[in-house]
Amino acid sequence: MQTVSSPFLPFHVPLIEEDDMRAVREVMESGWITTGPKAAQFEQEFARYTGARQAVAVNSGTAALHVALEAIGVGEGDEVIVPTLTFAATAEAVVYCKARPVLVDCEPEIFNIDPVQAERAITARTRAMVPVHFGGHPCDMDPLLRTARARGLKVIEDAAHALPARYRGRMIGTLGDITCFSFYATKSITTGEGGMVTTDDQTWADRMRVMRLHGISKDAWKRYTAEGSWRYEILAPGFKYNLTDMQAALGLSQLAKCHSMWARRRLLAERYSQALSRLDAFELPATRSDVGHAWHLYAIRICPGELSVHRDRVIEELKERGIGTSVHFIPLHLHPYYRDRWGYRPGDFPVAEDYFDRCISLPLYPAMSDEDQARVIEALTDIAHRFRRPAISVLAGSENGIFSGMNSTYPAGPAPGAKAAQSAEGGETWYLGTGKRLLDTAGAVIALALASPLIVICALAVRLSSRGPILFRQRRVGRGGRAFELLKFRTMLDGSTGAQITASGDTRITAIGRWLRRTKLDELPQLINVLKGEMSLVGPRPEVPEYVAGYREEQKRVLERKPGITSPASLTFIDEERLLAAQTDREGYYRRVLLPRKLEIDLAYCRNAGLGADLRIIAATVRSLLPGKGACDRSGARGSGARCETEREPGSEAA
Ligand SMILES: *Cc1c(COP(=O)(O)O)cnc(C)c1O
Repeated sequence: MQTVSSPFLPFHVPLIEEDDMRAVREVMESGWITTGPKAAQFEQEFARYTGARQAVAVNSGTAALHVALEAIGVGEGDEVIVPTLTFAATAEAVVYCKARPVLVDCEPEIFNIDPVQAERAITARTRAMVPVHFGGHPCDMDPLLRTARARGLKVIEDAAHALPARYRGRMIGTLGDITCFSFYATKSITTGEGGMVTTDDQTWADRMRVMRLHGISKDAWKRYTAEGSWRYEILAPGFKYNLTDMQAALGLSQLAKCHSMWARRRLLAERYSQALSRLDAFELPATRSDVGHAWHLYAIRICPGELSVHRDRVIEELKERGIGTSVHFIPLHLHPYYRDRWGYRPGDFPVAEDYFDRCISLPLYPAMSDEDQARVIEALTDIAHRFRRPAISVLAGSENGIFSGMNSTYPAGPAPGAKAAQSAEGGETWYLGTGKRLLDTAGAVIALALASPLIVICALAVRLSSRGPILFRQRRVGRGGRAFELLKFRTMLDGSTGAQITASGDTRITAIGRWLRRTKLDELPQLINVLKGEMSLVGPRPEVPEYVAGYREEQKRVLERKPGITSPASLTFIDEERLLAAQTDREGYYRRVLLPRKLEIDLAYCRNAGLGADLRIIAATVRSLLPGKGACDRSGARGSGARCETEREPGSEAA
């Protein structure tokens, strides 16, 4: 193959070589160019390659999804669960069947459909789920298949990115009820346009063969051969989805090198990971140990804490350096159609939105050279250095103010009797100066009185279930940078040491502790912090001094307000422990990703603080604490937005 040396490295170039062209040419010379023997052969070889019993060739991945959903009987009034982070086709095929696409958020770090949220989205009308093996990383199929079996659903896999890929030793194409592949120009093998469906079920395969060509009963191409007859029957109003022999011939020659092209993509992906792991500015794709990744995409994410510019600017900068990239995908719920027709809104699926906001897919294809890849790495390194965010590190200090000289940066809290508020509105000023303190005191007294029986029960439970004190005290940074001791019920084994960050499944947490954390009852003792005047009911969440020391100048403005038991940031990140559980570097992820985002949210609160905002946040917090609330509402599978923070407990201080 001749390589055209171009100053611009496109995001993707298919690998079309001499043998591919010869294969297509032979078909064109044969006198039979539409669906015929080559298409049949391509199906057989594809079935052999994936290990599926049946393979049915169609003219696109979208068509594959459509005939698959049609075959299992999805129709009007049905619901089909689809991840929001996918290409248009996945949900569109559901709409072709007059069914309702029910969108679901993705799991952090791997960005495939979240099995827990998928299960929550099931209703009496749900017929199927369409997990997408995003970027070529197989979905966690076992829980999805278990849920589907238990609830009587079918699983149609969108494997447009997943040739070849493995999950726990099994090839993608053999796991779900039906699997759909795409041979679009950018996919791992291409026929220009094309697709394939695999299944082990003869009945579904037969139905799909009929429906892909006008609902005609037999292999219609045989009509024009010696074996065929002119007679045919129409069994259903089918589609015109057949794959031509020209395409199938290209598919056969591409399939023959599918494995070697995959090996090359794997090598390129490994090199990216090695080279880019030196840069703090980017988060790299993660891979679970029980999968074989197809490496259709290599997508990095910008770390907002490390880089001073947005993803869009990074894409522009790469383009200026002659490098094409792409973004996969704009989550479906952000598009006008899904908003207007199905009622989704921005904010419904925070994990997908955060991913979308920060992701860039880098060039990754066998037709690119080592030098091409070196250019990409060099450009990213250059960008990471040029736009590095200056970290202002502030010294830890004495007991009462961890910052020396901090008054020069911002007011360190009001002198007694002075007005604290910066708001221009008079009413708000009174509220922030005096009213809020009244609300805090009254609120804390009432809450303590109401909760007193519960507090006694919690205290006894902690005391009796494991050795150690009832209360856990932790140094946090309050208003004006003054440190104070935040009180909580102890949820960990006494003397626990280890990571700063706790994630779901942390073994240091006691059984009672797990319950206290889930219900958030462990936070109740902070009402005492409120009475002591160290905290408010609502305010930016106080952090540990180590983290505050790394705040940038503008982030330090959160210290202008009294910290709160609840805050908009805590409500936004209900899934914090789960987000963290998926990370290999939890501390780093918290510092680089979660903390900056939480600060952004709390800073916005500080700018608009007032009675109305506080009452709304208190109401949302109470709602999120009620049993059965706070996660997902049904049909739209939409996050309620009511979320609570989980805690970082330096284990050493728990001792
Ligand atoms: C490419 C793609 C499809 C559709 O494939 P076409 O062959 O273009 O119709 C479906 N789903 C996903 C996730 C894709 O990336």
